[in-house]
Amino acid sequence: MNKFLSASDRNKVTEQLKTKNHELIIIGGGITGAGIALDAASRGIKTALVEMQDFAAGTSSRSTKLVHGGLRYLEHLELGLVHEVGREREIVHTNAAHIVIPEKMILPIIKDGNLGEFTTSLALYVYDFLAGVKKEEHRKMLSEEETLEKVPILNQELLKAGALYYEYKTNDSRLTLEVLKKAREYSALALNYTKAEDLLYNNEGKITGIKVKDMLKGETYKIEGQNVVAAAGPWTDRIRKKDNSLKGKHLRHSKGIHIVVSKKDFKLNHAIYFDTGDNRMVFAIPRFDIVYIGTTDTDYSGNLENPEILSEDVDYLLKAVNRIAPDANLDKSRVKSAWAGLRPLIHEEGKNPSELSRKDEIFHSDSGLIAIAGGKLTGYRIMAKDVTGLIMKRLVNNSEREKIKCQTKNMRLSGGEFPFYPETGKIEELYGQKFDEVKHTRISAAEFRKLFFRYGMNIDKITEKAFEYYNDNKKSDSAWLKAEIRYSIFKEGAYTLSDFFIRRTGRIFFEIDSIEPKIQEAAEYFKEFLNLDKDTIQNQIEEMRAELAHAVNFRE
Ligand code: FAD
Repeated sequence: MNKFLSASDRNKVTEQLKTKNHELIIIGGGITGAGIALDAASRGIKTALVEMQDFAAGTSSRSTKLVHGGLRYLEHLELGLVHEVGREREIVHTNAAHIVIPEKMILPIIKDGNLGEFTTSLALYVYDFLAGVKKEEHRKMLSEEETLEKVPILNQELLKAGALYYEYKTNDSRLTLEVLKKAREYSALALNYTKAEDLLYNNEGKITGIKVKDMLKGETYKIEGQNVVAAAGPWTDRIRKKDNSLKGKHLRHSKGIHIVVSKKDFKLNHAIYFDTGDNRMVFAIPRFDIVYIGTTDTDYSGNLENPEILSEDVDYLLKAVNRIAPDANLDKSRVKSAWAGLRPLIHEEGKNPSELSRKDEIFHSDSGLIAIAGGKLTGYRIMAKDVTGLIMKRLVNNSEREKIKCQTKNMRLSGGEFPFYPETGKIEELYGQKFDEVKHTRISAAEFRKLFFRYGMNIDKITEKAFEYYNDNKKSDSAWLKAEIRYSIFKEGAYTLSDFFIRRTGRIFFEIDSIEPKIQEAAEYFKEFLNLDKDTIQNQIEEMRAELAHAVNFRE
């Protein structure tokens, strides 16, 4: 069996899940579960992971897509967290430099805002120090004129000054996939569309495994193992309830939405982090031809799989953005799409969602089940280290096993294995070289750039196939689309058009208009590679169209 997340290995992986003696079973294939799988597998722990939807289909594809230094924690005086998360940001960047990329952020200081010039300067200074920010990325305070020069669209009547600091932009679902692919290289078994329906116990009430349902085939089977970890994000309390251990602290779901507008309508050339006017802060981030704006933070109690985007959520963000950039004059008709995600926060009496801590929480059950929820994308590696540390301790206590320390600090993720220290200049140089190699297929520089920074060092695997298809029919777009779909199926475990257009490529977030014109062609490739019948592929097309409709549902 190859060491990729290949859809063609599903039967073999299923067989191994059924029959092997697993030391660790993880429920949930978001960033938290993926991180634990990599940490555990790279310490030699026999690891299995199941995900009921697609990998990263929960919160891990619905975030603001930033690897934060934790500036927000400073506001709440969680200094230890700023220190930890800030340093972690650099590690995540180094290990996945193709998808964790520095982004200059402007923080406009406004007349009636939360932050004055002095407090912002001091806060960012403390932040640079605590988070260990590299010298070249230290904050720079800007005058009103300098701020306007960088972001001319800002409201001059409100603006007093500005600050420039750095965040790192990422693609959350791709980060999750790169972590999982690396875990697979260390022999972790991972299957999407496999739901943990029940927990298994011995006579003493200790957890011994899970009963799962294959959501593609309908088959149910048991996976047995010594330790079970629930990394089920917003669904974590459901697993704790099954385990009869939902006592004390529990989750509170907070919904965050983002809206997407065209750069033509909102001429923002710099990412900004700005006051909403009601004591909150919101990001507006340009990417490719769009700008996305978010996020909201409201209590939520509806459907967890695909949270609704309400018209009032969109209005809230439009109001905030029109206040800071009135000339943009954005209204709903300009909103191309939106997405919503759920934060699994730990409930605290009397606090509103914005006031709740973003720190992760580990729950220990008498049955032996460990559950983890909360936290951030950014801190996934540390969360994984903590949980795997607990598992390692149990394994060492119960056998002659040697204790192995966390291995992930200096471990490049899949796609991030550049043959040099990943400085931006060197990566750009490599991109240039790779583009020279593919130019003859008539792919544009912009399109190849997207692919290069989506797949990093794995790009050659796609290029190789694109050459082959291009030689067959000289159709550039088709050759690259087919090659990318092939990679997503056989190296990244994609089964459906939604897996491809949402979690593998992020097109639904950043290039929604590009999907419909390619849906039929993409369907043909899925049909061919996965040997699907007509009805199945038709259902997939409809499912994808329903996702496109969901992204604009707020208009109704
Ligand atoms: P999830 O990604 O939800 O994964 C849990 C998985 O478990 C799901 O895929 C689910 O399908 C699966 N599952 C559940 N039950 C079962 C079962 N019975 N069997 C099998 N599988 C199951 N963090 C940052 O660092 N930077 C940001 O910019 C940022 N922005 C955010 C913006 C918003 C609006 C939100 C909501 C969060 C944001 N976060 C951000 C936080 C970050 O996205 C989350 O902390 C992180 O994605 C949570 O990952 P997770 O793996 O714990 O949960």
